[in-house]
Amino acid sequence: MLSKIQAIRGMNDLLPDVSPVWQYLEFVVAKILKQYGYQEIRFPMVENTDLFKRSIGEVTDIVEKEMYTFADRNNESITLRPEGTASCVRACEQHGLLYNQTQKLWYSGPMFRYEKPQKGRLRQFHQVGVEAFGFSGPDIDAELLLLTARLWKALGLDKAVVLQINSLGTVQSRAAYKQALVNYLTPIREQLDEDSQRRLDSNPLRILDSKSSATQQLLHNAPQLHDYLESESKAHFSQLMSILDASGVSYQVNPHLVRGLDYYGDTVFEWVTDKLGAQGTVCAGGRYNGLIEQLGGKPTPAVGFAMGIERLVLLLDTVNVIPSDIQATTDIYLVSVGNIASFVLQTAETLRSELSHLQIVTHCGGGSFKKQMKKADKSGASIALIIGEDEAARQQVTIKYLREEKAQQTVGVETLIPFIKQVLAIPENN
Ligand code: ATP
Ligand code: MG
Repeated sequence: MLSKIQAIRGMNDLLPDVSPVWQYLEFVVAKILKQYGYQEIRFPMVENTDLFKRSIGEVTDIVEKEMYTFADRNNESITLRPEGTASCVRACEQHGLLYNQTQKLWYSGPMFRYEKPQKGRLRQFHQVGVEAFGFSGPDIDAELLLLTARLWKALGLDKAVVLQINSLGTVQSRAAYKQALVNYLTPIREQLDEDSQRRLDSNPLRILDSKSSATQQLLHNAPQLHDYLESESKAHFSQLMSILDASGVSYQVNPHLVRGLDYYGDTVFEWVTDKLGAQGTVCAGGRYNGLIEQLGGKPTPAVGFAMGIERLVLLLDTVNVIPSDIQATTDIYLVSVGNIASFVLQTAETLRSELSHLQIVTHCGGGSFKKQMKKADKSGASIALIIGEDEAARQQVTIKYLREEKAQQTVGVETLIPFIKQVLAIPENN
């Protein structure tokens, strides 16, 4: 036998038993985004490599070691998108969506990063991202957080996540802080963990969110980012906090919260949970006022976030809040014996036209009556419609009740619809 080809490591299949949870999650997210007036945008999964290098930053984890980058047949360097913000900005710029106007947008889909696969960390994973362009005030930052807070509530996750916020200030204040941090850490370089030693030269701010407790100890007496913020950044941040206070959204200020991507400034935030181990960030984002200009556009204030769908699905499962009725179940199962496929399929078509909200499954592929009835039972249908050659000849259908003790009944096709409506207690105008 030929060997079987397996999926690529870290790229999961989503099987039918799990897909209803994803559909449910995606449905709730889309509904809430619509409520807030955000519009969906879709862009390609592959972009020119330069787009990500120029936006995410050369010395970030993503660009240094996580991108799926290939030469295409024309020897152009292309990359499977590791995140959506860069592509979203590229698409908006390319189509003039940012010219003299504001935008509130969202997108969803697969992202690709070459990481070590583990629970909640995959090589193909999925995000829903939200981006708002053209708004500079803290009101929009707050709106994004209110939107996410509403989402957690709708999903039953509000007790499972906490909001952490921080301000990274402007490029200038951050540069001054970076220098102070480097000056502080350089003499004790040898005591830092390996990653942080490397970052001291390339991306010192990332040391702040080092997972090493020894490094965290050393940071206790380090200069604080907050002390370097300019008054405008401080005002922006405190206004954001007062809107959150007034809206009853609780949060923690985490002075060590920095984001893995270069383009953030001022507000950054993460929604984190302690229920998923090391992969505890389910939603992360912030303000990135410099990015549009960095990609060749006019300076445009921007803020956004992305949430990881796999992690949210894991969390829904862990805290046990997946509604029990999300798996669509069959209502009517058609069983037939004999050479009568066209009558059976036409009967099913009529039912679907008239009773469009029901799930009506036709048994295909034949088999004994007994075997088909077993399938009908397993489908969860409340009734089976049985059609044999005799019934077909007489244009009749037999109704068998699968969930109640009731004798089966045979009716003519012309009265089948009202009969089923009555049996399933469906109002006449439906
Ligand atoms: P982490 O610190 O966990 O690596 P990140 O800072 O790289 O996260 P972002 O780029 O901010 O993550 O992406 C936003 C969200 O997308 C994350 O909070 C997470 O929920 C999800 N995410 C990121 N990378 C992965 C991955 N490899 N697998 C699954 N989900 C991911
Ligand atoms: Mg990462």
